[in-house]
Amino acid sequence: MIPVHSAPTPSEFSHPNLEPLFSAEQIQTRIAELGAEISRDYAGRNPLMIGVLKGACIFVSDLMRATDLRLGVEFMGISSYGAATRTSGEVRITKDLDVPIEGRDILVVEDIVDTGITLSYLLANLRSRGAQSVKLVALLDKFERREREVEINYLGFKIPDAFVVGYGLDFAERYRNLPYIAILKNPEMQ
Ligand code: 5GP
Repeated sequence: MIPVHSAPTPSEFSHPNLEPLFSAEQIQTRIAELGAEISRDYAGRNPLMIGVLKGACIFVSDLMRATDLRLGVEFMGISSYGAATRTSGEVRITKDLDVPIEGRDILVVEDIVDTGITLSYLLANLRSRGAQSVKLVALLDKFERREREVEINYLGFKIPDAFVVGYGLDFAERYRNLPYIAILKNPEMQ
């Protein structure tokens, strides 16, 4: 019998195209600080966190557990990059809220603000629905690429102009499950 040698499965979490930017520990430390700040600012109130799918799903689940308040959570879907790394400038709601937000204190929870096109549209849309207040929590700010002004009320980290993946952020649906955030070195060669 000829022995069959199969190549070892390469690790997804340490793929050579990934350059670590923030470790899982750094992310959790920053989220604990953001949660404490939000808990202080909203003491006695009942805010509604609105997570933007799919990128913010991991961030919102960690942030809500770091926020010691009576709060609700909902999700919205907004079209963005699709399978490419450049924004089209076109914004579309792919999944709307299931609840009215009139009179509510809204905390939009987003993974990354890049050109600001998506968020400026979403924040204006939510404000037009009669919310009491609408604030933005963003984990990452790619500030150098801003085209529309967006006020980030609670920010995790500023980052350089690079394409990042992990901790919910994808490249063509890949790498969302990385426990840390990394720069994707050659997106065009994936
Ligand atoms: P904006 O409208 O601000 O240009 O883009 C926001 C959306 O683009 C984000 O919610 C995210 O889906 C996507 N995006 C922007 N920059 C990056 C990036 O570096 N990595 C990933 N994975 N998505 C990004």
